[in-house]
Amino acid sequence: MAVDVLAIGAHPDDIELTCGGTLAQLKARGYRFGIVDLTRGEMGTRGTPEIRAAEARRAAEILGAEFRESLDLGDGGLGRGREHEIAVIDLIRREKPRILFAPYPDDRHPDHRRAGQLVMDAAFYAGLRKLETGHAAHRPQQTIHFSTFEPHPPDFVVDVTAFIETRRAAMRAFASQYHDAKSAEPQTLLSQKDFLDMVESRARQHGALIGVEFGEGFTSRRPPRVDDLIQAFSGFEPGF
Ligand SMILES: [Zn+2]
Repeated sequence: MAVDVLAIGAHPDDIELTCGGTLAQLKARGYRFGIVDLTRGEMGTRGTPEIRAAEARRAAEILGAEFRESLDLGDGGLGRGREHEIAVIDLIRREKPRILFAPYPDDRHPDHRRAGQLVMDAAFYAGLRKLETGHAAHRPQQTIHFSTFEPHPPDFVVDVTAFIETRRAAMRAFASQYHDAKSAEPQTLLSQKDFLDMVESRARQHGALIGVEFGEGFTSRRPPRVDDLIQAFSGFEPGF
């Protein structure tokens, strides 16, 4: 059974940090989604691939994903050869999503950059009928990009206020990656004491842009269609 949305990250936890609230909101609307991690996060400074896999399974359950899997394309040097592209093309064809989520293809982390480009390219190639992979050709309507750390001005913002607790719980499922006063593992960007507060402050800032408490902002090559322009801006801070 096809999914409506396929959320593809480079590492386990990329999705939770960027679009978990939106996925929970889509689920509440009756849409089906799957999560795919392009790597197992085996180069991560903290935790192990096994711990991260267990955390990822738990986070996917919290968000309500239909499935979660890893393509294991190599953390810290994510593969972008033809065979890696074919793996992503076949995944897209197998699941037939209408919307893809993928990293912003210009990010600090090279794996995120590669993942963003890989998914965008695969989304197009997946529609080429003469390219045979074992599943029928399918091209998603739109690839939507999330930013993992660097701020990018969003093209649109999804109100996730009602799903902020689900989002927080899914993020916290990756306990090995975040601040733990008792941990003897080396510090990373994610394990700094204020990291999750920083991530949430971005959700507050995006929410403030659309007049709600929490939002998740995204970019896409085409903006979404607006059916009711008056409704689309209601509740916003006036005077902009
Ligand atoms: Zn990542």
